[in-house]
Amino acid sequence: MDGSAESEDLWRLMLQHSPIGMTVVAPDGRLLMVNRALCEMLGYAAEELTQHGFQELTHPDDLDADLALYHRTLDGEIDSYRMRKRYLHADGRLVWGDLSVALVRDAAGQPLHFISQILDVTEQQENEERLEAIFETVNVGLLLIDAEGRYERMNRRHRDTMHMPFPDGHAGEAGQLGEVYHLDGRVMAREEMPSYRATQGEEFDDYTYWVGSDPARRQAFSTSARQVRGPAGERRGAALAYQEITDLVRAIQVKDEFVASVSHELRTPLTSVLGHLELLSERDDLSAEVAAQLEVVQRNAGRLQALLADLLLVGQVTDGTLELLPAQVDLAAVVHDAVEATRVSADRKGVAVRVDVPDRLVVLADGQRLRQVLDNLLSNAVKYSRSGDTVGVLLRGTEDGVELEVADTGMGIAADEVEQVFTRFFRGGHAMAQQVPGTGLGLSIVSSIVDAHGGTVTVESELGMGSTFRVVLPGRADPVD
Ligand code: ADP
Repeated sequence: MDGSAESEDLWRLMLQHSPIGMTVVAPDGRLLMVNRALCEMLGYAAEELTQHGFQELTHPDDLDADLALYHRTLDGEIDSYRMRKRYLHADGRLVWGDLSVALVRDAAGQPLHFISQILDVTEQQENEERLEAIFETVNVGLLLIDAEGRYERMNRRHRDTMHMPFPDGHAGEAGQLGEVYHLDGRVMAREEMPSYRATQGEEFDDYTYWVGSDPARRQAFSTSARQVRGPAGERRGAALAYQEITDLVRAIQVKDEFVASVSHELRTPLTSVLGHLELLSERDDLSAEVAAQLEVVQRNAGRLQALLADLLLVGQVTDGTLELLPAQVDLAAVVHDAVEATRVSADRKGVAVRVDVPDRLVVLADGQRLRQVLDNLLSNAVKYSRSGDTVGVLLRGTEDGVELEVADTGMGIAADEVEQVFTRFFRGGHAMAQQVPGTGLGLSIVSSIVDAHGGTVTVESELGMGSTFRVVLPGRADPVD
């Protein structure tokens, strides 16, 4: 049996059945032999294809680059080359090919023929172009950094905004300091820079800050970061997306300033109204009808006052001026007072209130603010309960602080809303559909006050079953019993 004939047959079979286009090219460029994959790729029968030289099959714009490499190979400067180039299909369309060429020489070193392999990468190329178009067109700055934090690529949008934070240029390394400020005006430190955090392996969303030194022209950005990983999960770098949100941040600031100044302006006349109402109600020459109407006016003026107090407190939280006046407070007494104040509305609604509180539990805290916490949690518990439901208040001392629980068997909170209830101005869909009155401020105030005390507030809730709000505060003042 002829071994070389057999191996030649094998080669021919492999050539014909390979999914990669293959051809043997004469030194003058004519295709001497072509396989099936190449015929399919370029839309010709084998007899037609071998009438052509590779030059006619190449897109004119890519021909010079191909010929240059081809001649360097013939001249012996290199013995093989690779390039991505466009071919012309028989029907006129373009086909992208990944071409690998090697030159075979005879024993005397004379060029015999080229062996070329061409992988059809049209789809891949088109996908890359599509992604590239998106990368360059989106209105979000995009940055890729490598595992060491070196800048690898950025899109046009990001390039255009770089001068604001880095007026003297950027060296292409994560963590370079620039005109970058936190929302409260503090200069951002190196380890707080988004690119630096991403280089440390962090992932985050909505990291918001100002860039630019001129307060009138500076811009606000919201940044997200994701890690880029290789097939084995190893860190290859990170991708960052920078969205400009100046208008949004300015609008929020204007709204906050407006709310704060309106609340201030309303406070003085309202105090006067309440004072005079008080004086009026003390008169003994009022008819029963007038006295009853006066009570309604007083009650509503009282509600306005509470609302204003909420708005003022929110303003203090926003501009960082919320101050606590800590003192030794008997939290048990604060709970009793708050429960008593709520009992009227609870009774009216047919909601039972149960209290489980020690005789005395002293903490170092701002009693007035904690009363606000209790008022808000209790009024919510009653407000979001139905007739026949129960509200339970539990207070107990722990090793180093106290735990307060306000639980109700009321309407509960939808699972997709639980995360948001502490957000300022958030109102639940159910609460709005049922037209339960409210401003969406109560729980944000609770969370700010608890925060300021160094405590935590959490909620567990199930729609239709009820909610439990749990406040944990440090600062236990008396010994654990
Ligand atoms: P408001 O009660 O004025 O709407 P809050 O900040 O106090 O504002 O509460 C935010 C939202 O959380 C409410 O709109 C409501 O959907 C939900 N919520 C608060 N407390 C309860 C509760 N005890 N039971 C059910 N839902 C509650």
